[in-house]
Amino acid sequence: MSAPDLVQPPIFASVDDERLHRRQRLAAAFRIFARFGYDEGVAGHISARDPADPDCFWVNPYARWFGHLRASDLVLVDATGRVVQGDARVNTAAFAIHSQVHAARPDCVAAAHAHSLFGKAWSSLGRLLDPLTQDACAFYDDHALFDDYTGVVLEADEGKRLAHALGDDKAVILRNHGLLTVGQTVDEAAWWFITMDRSCHAQLLAEAAGAPVSIDPATARLAAGQVGGHRAGWLAFQSLYEWIVAEEPELLE
Ligand SMILES: [Zn+2]
Repeated sequence: MSAPDLVQPPIFASVDDERLHRRQRLAAAFRIFARFGYDEGVAGHISARDPADPDCFWVNPYARWFGHLRASDLVLVDATGRVVQGDARVNTAAFAIHSQVHAARPDCVAAAHAHSLFGKAWSSLGRLLDPLTQDACAFYDDHALFDDYTGVVLEADEGKRLAHALGDDKAVILRNHGLLTVGQTVDEAAWWFITMDRSCHAQLLAEAAGAPVSIDPATARLAAGQVGGHRAGWLAFQSLYEWIVAEEPELLE
């Protein structure tokens, strides 16, 4: 008997199907972020480009708890910050950050940012992550540091500088603030955020305990190719999606 094929990112027959899929994945990602404690008041946003209008993106409504969001609660915002679908406000910082990231990275569908505990603790050190573990190698030579903090990101210009720091990488550490990740799918962006926060946690623990041994550059590069690709990031999210939909199926509505 041959082994079953690994699941693949779906291909859609219509834009409507693809849009619904993105909104459902976003709602699931918010519910997972809530379970993992990444919510912090009104902070944090995950966004997904609309499949028909790439200048517009779906994002969470302002001041609503991640853990109750349904696909139908998400808000569509255009390139000027105007809400074009949905009847909720959008966080000004969410628009300032995500609009500029989406504009700078046409290769990406989604971006995730939250004030998760370990990500923000690590961000205060103003350092990149070291390749201390296999999982951390997903970020080897593929994340950046936005080495500046000037208050809440409210202006497009600040969002532009942040997007510039991200460059072509999958993630950026925002000093004294938190983490931001991007992906070709919502699944991928959400997974990089989750595993990056855990990599921050792991490095904080390891450095608190002693002097951790880094993986050498050639091996870190090899492992990055094995665990850090777009498809690997997408695949890693699938079991979390299966879990949250089984427990909270109303998120799909
Ligand atoms: Zn923030």
